[in-house]
Amino acid sequence: MNLIKFIEAFPDEASCRAKFKEFRDQQGVICRKCGCTEHYWLQTIEKYQCKKCKTRTSLRSGTVMHASNLPFRPWFIAFHLLTGTKKTFSALELQRQTGHKFYEPIWYMLQKIRMTMGSRDNQYPLDKIVELDEGFFESVDTEKSKDEKDEKKKRGRGSQKQSTVLVMASTVHDFKTKRKYSKPTKFRYVRMLVMDNLKSETVGQKVKENISEESVVKTDNYTSYTRIKDHVWCHIPRKVNPEDAGKILPWVHTMIANAKRTMLGIHHMVSRKYAQNYLDEFCYKVNRRYFGEQLFDRLLVACVTTNFKNIVTQNR
Ligand SMILES: [Zn+2]
Repeated sequence: MNLIKFIEAFPDEASCRAKFKEFRDQQGVICRKCGCTEHYWLQTIEKYQCKKCKTRTSLRSGTVMHASNLPFRPWFIAFHLLTGTKKTFSALELQRQTGHKFYEPIWYMLQKIRMTMGSRDNQYPLDKIVELDEGFFESVDTEKSKDEKDEKKKRGRGSQKQSTVLVMASTVHDFKTKRKYSKPTKFRYVRMLVMDNLKSETVGQKVKENISEESVVKTDNYTSYTRIKDHVWCHIPRKVNPEDAGKILPWVHTMIANAKRTMLGIHHMVSRKYAQNYLDEFCYKVNRRYFGEQLFDRLLVACVTTNFKNIVTQNR
């Protein structure tokens, strides 16, 4: 959807609210008390009422907008900007564009949308040939204790100024004679996970959770990757010089470079605590790069069906 179409479709608060209700009705409302899926719509107070136990549910309750005081329109503008632009938007920019008085609610809104994107992507395991490597993203640690701050700064793997990110790219063999990117495989999907550490058990667990058992996983021969073979059909570790890593794992390295460029260009420096959310947005958009104008509706479906409480408590 381009800007003109967006303004025509959603000129005011009422049109955004109506669209949100339309999507909520399509996806179905579930009573939080008895689990019943049949509801009356009480027009005067704008709430659903359960046909069995009469429990009332507001339009926003149980969706990404749960407990948000922002009107529907800024949310819709955010949906549009996050899906309609190739890169992304900072909260400060969105605050300026919407003319909202405060920064915090806009920032929270964007984080919630990004978390929704991440929870959506987590539903699908990666498969086929999966390239796996770690990347190090510039980030600031906003919640570090004093002792940790005093520790001597390390460089490279495990440096405190960076987030350690496990990057997985699902690919398939490209049998076309003329290769567009001169890479032997075709890129499908990507996932990026901020890691507390790169111990082999931790990496193994993440592989188990995110990659399907029938997959082939390609990595370099770093010691953290020794447990991967326990969880997938085949693990191919290859000894590789750091400068040649891009040849063995081309898509992972392309994705890391693109994500870094987006993060640095738009957000400059992200907090380590929220780095996962920014990466989730990047991956969500890359994974849905062929959706075109449908992406807005898809995000709206995700936001209507994602209960924000569930995401916060989810251990990722
Ligand atoms: Zn009920």
